[in-house]
Amino acid sequence: MSEPNPFESLQEQVDDAAAYLDIDDDVITRLKHPERVLEANLTVELDDGSLQRFTGFRSQFNGDRGPYKGGIRYHPEVSRDEVKALSGWMAYKCAIVDIPFGGGKGGIVVDPDEYSEAELERLTRAFAAELRPLVGPDRDIPAPDVNTGQREMNWFKDTYETLERTTAPGVITGKAISSGGSAGRVEATGRSTMLAAREAFDYLDRDLADATVAVQGYGNAGSIAAKLIEDSGATVVAVSDSSGGIYDPDGLDARAVKTFKNETGSVTGYADAQELTNEELLTLDVDLLVPAALENAIDGDLAKEVAAEVIVEAANGPLTPRADDVLTERDVYVVPDILANAGGVTVSYFEWVQNRQRFAWTEARVNDELESVITDAFDDLVAAYEDNELPNFRTAAYVVATRRIVDSYLEGGNWP
Ligand code: GLU
Repeated sequence: MSEPNPFESLQEQVDDAAAYLDIDDDVITRLKHPERVLEANLTVELDDGSLQRFTGFRSQFNGDRGPYKGGIRYHPEVSRDEVKALSGWMAYKCAIVDIPFGGGKGGIVVDPDEYSEAELERLTRAFAAELRPLVGPDRDIPAPDVNTGQREMNWFKDTYETLERTTAPGVITGKAISSGGSAGRVEATGRSTMLAAREAFDYLDRDLADATVAVQGYGNAGSIAAKLIEDSGATVVAVSDSSGGIYDPDGLDARAVKTFKNETGSVTGYADAQELTNEELLTLDVDLLVPAALENAIDGDLAKEVAAEVIVEAANGPLTPRADDVLTERDVYVVPDILANAGGVTVSYFEWVQNRQRFAWTEARVNDELESVITDAFDDLVAAYEDNELPNFRTAAYVVATRRIVDSYLEGGNWP
């Protein structure tokens, strides 16, 4: 059976949940499509004086519960459908963790490794200028995603504030602390991945400290999840990035691997470890598998070979719906992306609250509040899973999230 693209996957995930909800089809249909998508032509001057055209997208999926919220990614494979899917996942993510945001996502079709810092700054400012009428602290609030971070967020904020002739740090989150960022934001996605893994192991009457772990992807989410999972006592035996993976049955040192990757550009070549492919890593005999790279890492065929008992999705959309079917059948527990990686947007919410209050929280407060949000959301998911005898955790998460979005929509009414 062929695998859907990420946008079709999102629609299938919503339909799977709708089957257990008493909500009219026409209301569900609305929640399977973005409210609007902007496609921008960005013409940027390169360092040699020539001009290059780039395509950027911003999808505003749903704003029933608050301003659109979600990151901006820079990647050569960015497409309109990918951005639409990612914006939808943001809407359901903000709803399952019950923060007052809708869902949005942006992306630019670009391989940032091929451009200088000055060129990337001009590209980011061009995109920010195009998005200016759509964004704002009460409208749509971007954030980091694949291949973007504090640097790009600081440029974005500066462009917006300069054009608007105001200060508005809450227009974007994931900024450097000195530009109005929050303590704990850089680590937040990895932290919620670790918390979700801990909750899932507790639910199964197991201890995360006894687990062996493989992590696919060693960017912000994967490397920090690996570090924090290791700090909980578990043994991280394999990690990978786009160049390949490394394996040590006695355990790697997540921090040392990160330092090695920062110096050499990849985890491959790390001393005292065997090399393995991404596919070998995804099917390794471990207790916990953490996909932390891109969409569709595990399809229906590969899912048959997965040996892990628990999967916690740090990436957005790493499993196809066919993979979900196979893993549900095989009793593999999957903590879905919209809960597991929701730490990023949750601490973005805290950053936005701090920006509005012009008051900075301590890192301890951020981490404590994040822990409550993730454990409460996990409890809501489990209650829905058990009360409705749902097939898996993903459907449970979508049942809770869809109900919350629909309640807000119906209370407001359909206008205009
Ligand atoms: N890009 C992250 C995500 O996919 C964070 C989004 C945000 O902080 O708004 O959840």
